[in-house]
Amino acid sequence: MVKGAVLYNFFEPLKVESVQLKAPRADEVVVKMAASGVCHSDLSVQQAKLPIPPPVILGHEGAGIVEEVGKGVSDLKPGDHVVLAWVQTCGKCHYCVLGQEHLCDSAIKAMMAGEEQVFEKDGVGIARMAGVASFAERTVVRASACIKIPDEVPLDKACLVGCGVMTGVGAAINTAKVRPGQTVAVFGCGGVGLNVIQGAALCGASRIIAVDLVDQKLKWAKDFGATDVVNGKQVSDVPDAIRGLTDGVGVDYAFEVIGVPEIITQAFLSVKRGGKAVVVGVPGFDQFVSIPGAALPLEEKSVIGSLYGSGSMRRDMPKLIELYMQKKLKLDELISRRIKLDQVNEAFEAMQTGEVARSVIIY
Ligand SMILES: [Zn+2]
Ligand SMILES: [Zn+2]
Repeated sequence: MVKGAVLYNFFEPLKVESVQLKAPRADEVVVKMAASGVCHSDLSVQQAKLPIPPPVILGHEGAGIVEEVGKGVSDLKPGDHVVLAWVQTCGKCHYCVLGQEHLCDSAIKAMMAGEEQVFEKDGVGIARMAGVASFAERTVVRASACIKIPDEVPLDKACLVGCGVMTGVGAAINTAKVRPGQTVAVFGCGGVGLNVIQGAALCGASRIIAVDLVDQKLKWAKDFGATDVVNGKQVSDVPDAIRGLTDGVGVDYAFEVIGVPEIITQAFLSVKRGGKAVVVGVPGFDQFVSIPGAALPLEEKSVIGSLYGSGSMRRDMPKLIELYMQKKLKLDELISRRIKLDQVNEAFEAMQTGEVARSVIIY
């Protein structure tokens, strides 16, 4: 039996209880969780915005230690330290062959359907979110979800690379490919937004304008490399304010890291001619985004999406860990609270009030 946080019904608190864990299949491994971040997408599942059918154990930003491997697994062994990736690549589909592993057919399916039910309670199967389920003391994942990291890396920090850091830093480095001297605005300075900011700083952006409604988050934004901050409550027109900070032209890239259609529109209006709005936040499945059509050809502006930092997990996650070990990437500063699994519902509340960058569950 393992303790896990189960979502039984949308909009209800998670229930922390003992469940059974199935044995790993040939291509799977058992991971003893060390730590898991609480990400906004976990909340989105609870609120039916990312409608993974319950019952499901949430959590997709985990790190831990391999405990047992299925008989077909040759590249992992018990004792290996791993970060869990919520995209498990098949290596064979159209996208994997093209080198876009984060868009892998099987990964998208796993993400949305909660995938196989590796947990069970009273004969009822319980799914694992995004092939991970890091809100459980132990979980069974595909071997391809495990990204090996050196033993000396603290797992309570490493877990953050599993979602927020990869998503945010990758959006700047891989999706946008920000170049030295370019200008950037970031709408939304939570756990992922702060990582877009530090990603843009790593790329050498000359101006990084952070936009949020919460002063505390704007303060964090400065710690992560923002050169300017705009509190959306204090200006009448945010795109105008951004143009005002960039000699009237606007930014090369405006990242939207909230998932609100109106803010995506604002991001689009904030970029200069030839600029790109990069959508990282996930709007509801039934929502549409409105942008002025003429600006697409006449101003050569575009809107692009970014999933999981357009990353190749095997290539990028070890790199991010290496940057952290060299003190070039901030992870410690992302952790606002360290909590126990039982406090996961409180972490959801804290996220909604904007009090935290990340709560991290320590097992
Ligand atoms: Zn996440
Ligand atoms: Zn694939």
